[in-house]
Amino acid sequence: MPNKVAFIGLGIMGQPMALNLVKAGYSVTVFNRDRAKTKPLEQAGARVAGSPGEVARDADIIWSIVSDTAAMEEVVMGNGGIIETIRPGTVLIDSSTISPTVSRKFACHLAGKSAKMLDAPVTGSKHGAEKGELTFMIGGEREVFERMIPLLAVQGKKHIYCGAQGSGLSAKLAQNAIQATMVEVFCEGFVLATKSGVLPETMLEIIQSSMARANLTDFKAPFILKGDFTPYFPLKLMHKDLELAMEAAYALNVPMPTTAAVKETYGAAKAQGKGNMDYAAVITFLEELAGVKVREGVSKIKG
Ligand code: NAP
Repeated sequence: MPNKVAFIGLGIMGQPMALNLVKAGYSVTVFNRDRAKTKPLEQAGARVAGSPGEVARDADIIWSIVSDTAAMEEVVMGNGGIIETIRPGTVLIDSSTISPTVSRKFACHLAGKSAKMLDAPVTGSKHGAEKGELTFMIGGEREVFERMIPLLAVQGKKHIYCGAQGSGLSAKLAQNAIQATMVEVFCEGFVLATKSGVLPETMLEIIQSSMARANLTDFKAPFILKGDFTPYFPLKLMHKDLELAMEAAYALNVPMPTTAAVKETYGAAKAQGKGNMDYAAVITFLEELAGVKVREGVSKIKG
């Protein structure tokens, strides 16, 4: 098994994922634009490089997880990008959630250098990354996927092969359309209940005793009711994923009327300056429209 891993992007997800690789004994070199985020990795024993091209130069495997399509374009194709130095036989595992079409374009450019690529977006959020319990959705050549399983196993036990290049991303966009809608409608329901005079804790007990109960909203509810919107998944990135889902829907002639409305709701919350908060902060936008605060209902209970 090759053991020189280059890791690009040390944000909420990348930081713990890169640490997992160091702890598993891989020789890891990292790149992040904001150098301050490389410190914990350096302390753990990773080396630091100054550009994606530099980090890629000696790597057997390059793993990336950056914000969006434009960021990945810069990492792969930009000045000092991976494409300038990648060696034949190197595999790029990209866990960023980006456009499937653009991801396929990167794979073609890398094929021109005799390198391989998997699209390997994840679900499981920050706590899943920290515990090494992420779920991967994989697109690309099955043989390359199978060779990468020992490495993927460091980050999680579930690696679901979806098919040809880009299909992991297509699955991820469908999954996030579902998650974004679940959280948004959960928040709408709590705003309605609070304005009707039903206490949020009562409402939560009802939801958790009904068929509407879901792991996702069980996880988010305590944060929403406390008003703690520390980003596990920033709202601006959820909005980006909904944009990508709508692009895919347009290309394939798939009507997604609910996702379109939900996308606009997250977009409005982002326009209000809530983009760096967790996406559950969409409730604060809905509260402002309705003129009611769910968290005030909670403090009434505690008081
Ligand atoms: P994040 O904390 O905002 O981190 C973004 C990372 O991308 C940072 O390392 C940032 O570097 C880097 N970056 C941005 N623009 C760049 C550029 N032009 N060139 C090089 N690096 C660039 O985001 P995150 O939550 O870790 O998410 C990363 C990806 O994973 C996104 O595609 C997201 O949709 C996906 N994802 C996130 C979650 C989650 O729960 N958070 C779950 C599943 C999937 P700087 O530090 O220098 O800005």
